[in-house]
Amino acid sequence: MAKQWYPVIDYGTCISCGSCTEKCTHGVYDKEKAPSALVVYPDGCVDHCHGCGNLCPSGSITYSGDDTDWVPPNR
Ligand code: SF4
Ligand code: SF4
Repeated sequence: MAKQWYPVIDYGTCISCGSCTEKCTHGVYDKEKAPSALVVYPDGCVDHCHGCGNLCPSGSITYSGDDTDWVPPNR
């Protein structure tokens, strides 16, 4: 199990579509800042969830502690 698991946003490629902030129901993203992706509660992220990353249209989300072979789609 990863020690700490949370999304890391590449702001160089993020297009601020809001898909990740909309998807997550665990308070990880600041919904007030949507559609911008701002991680405010990394501890809320569910270990080994790739939910937001799988939706990201620009492959801008990776995960701290990711020990899987998952590769962001649409990258
Ligand atoms: S990986 Fe899952 S729990 Fe973590 S921020 Fe994304 S949607 Fe939320
Ligand atoms: S889903 Fe991807 S492109 Fe859209 S706001 Fe989140 S990180 Fe940015």
